[in-house]
Amino acid sequence: MKVSFYDFTVDDLKAHLSANGLTAFGAIQIFDWVYRKMESNPENWSNVAKATREYFLANIDMSLPVIVWQGLSKDGTRKFLVKMTDGQTVETVAIPARERLTLCVSSQVGCAVGCTFCHTATQGLKRHLKASEVVGQFMTVQKWLLENESPEAKLTNIVYMGQGEPLHNYENMKKATIIFMTEKGIGFGQRRITLSTSGLVPAIEKLAVDFPTVNIALSLHSARNDVRTELMPINKVYDLERLFAAIKKIPLKAHRRITYEYLLADGVNDLPEDVEALSNLLVAKESKINIIPFNEYPGSKYKRPSEQKILWFMDQLIKKGYTVTVRTTKGSDILAACGQLKSAYDNKLNLWELTGSTQNTSSTAPQIQ
Ligand code: SAH
Ligand code: SF4
Repeated sequence: MKVSFYDFTVDDLKAHLSANGLTAFGAIQIFDWVYRKMESNPENWSNVAKATREYFLANIDMSLPVIVWQGLSKDGTRKFLVKMTDGQTVETVAIPARERLTLCVSSQVGCAVGCTFCHTATQGLKRHLKASEVVGQFMTVQKWLLENESPEAKLTNIVYMGQGEPLHNYENMKKATIIFMTEKGIGFGQRRITLSTSGLVPAIEKLAVDFPTVNIALSLHSARNDVRTELMPINKVYDLERLFAAIKKIPLKAHRRITYEYLLADGVNDLPEDVEALSNLLVAKESKINIIPFNEYPGSKYKRPSEQKILWFMDQLIKKGYTVTVRTTKGSDILAACGQLKSAYDNKLNLWELTGSTQNTSSTAPQIQ
């Protein structure tokens, strides 16, 4: 089987070219063609040596995940269902907000962590995604936007908040991050990438040492061990004490921010004792809390609190000195909001219903075998 181009960092590609008797300098030119000029056909790489172009045509796979369905939410969020070469599908969501267009990418097909509030968890873990499949989500959506929305359309940010636990797929996500940040390629700076984790302690300890510097979002969801364990079984092993010991090891350079995500579920973690526990755990001046009101999905066991309760909770935290934001729910009409993502086999019904109901969409019914 051919190797995928999208699995190469620029250093990998240099080494690969040299090992095949080709000039290593070609790697930079090729990154420029593929990631900047969006030209993935080696025949058109006019400044690349002929031998290198021929090598690429014969030996390197330039194909991207295939979009099998896409739909537009009323609020402008666009969800894509993409298929990998083995037929597995994942979802990736483009979310516009002011001058930004953020792509929420998946890191795994399903997830093994099993949080009790998460739709993805009901799938279990099917497999990890390769770096090429993560970079591939970005490239395939960027190309689609250029072709279908506007020649100016540009993704500006990436969040690892789709399906899967990115730190459970550490090496592939590390490689994808290096590729996203390569200056001669996509060239995203560290503030444009955010990795969200449920708190896999050994991987956080490793991240502190050898992961490219990006923003970190920690899915905290409760400052009380018993409640957190109910929401996130991972807390049985990596409880708040172990988690925060690991977090303290992350060197907070100027541009690496930690945000605490706090899913708010009615009557579960939105009580006065939760505010109290949070204020004992997080230092107010240093902590940014992002409240995510629970997004319901068919069969979900929790309820979203009322607007009034959400505002009350937020207010309590602001009074304690925290910086607090509430994540607006994007794309919930097409099940594209946090925790609603799930590979479409089981979602088929929803997607079919959608094709009739979504406005301004050029989507077709899903072609899933
Ligand atoms: N696996 C990673 C990243 C993906 S989920 C993680 O858990 O951090 C991105 C965010 O959405 C996480 O904070 C996650 O806890 C949250 N989330 C999951 N299901 C949700 C739901 N049904 N409603 C609201 N937020 C949810
Ligand atoms: Fe996995 Fe994140 Fe869902 Fe938990 S919330 S099951 S870690 S995707």
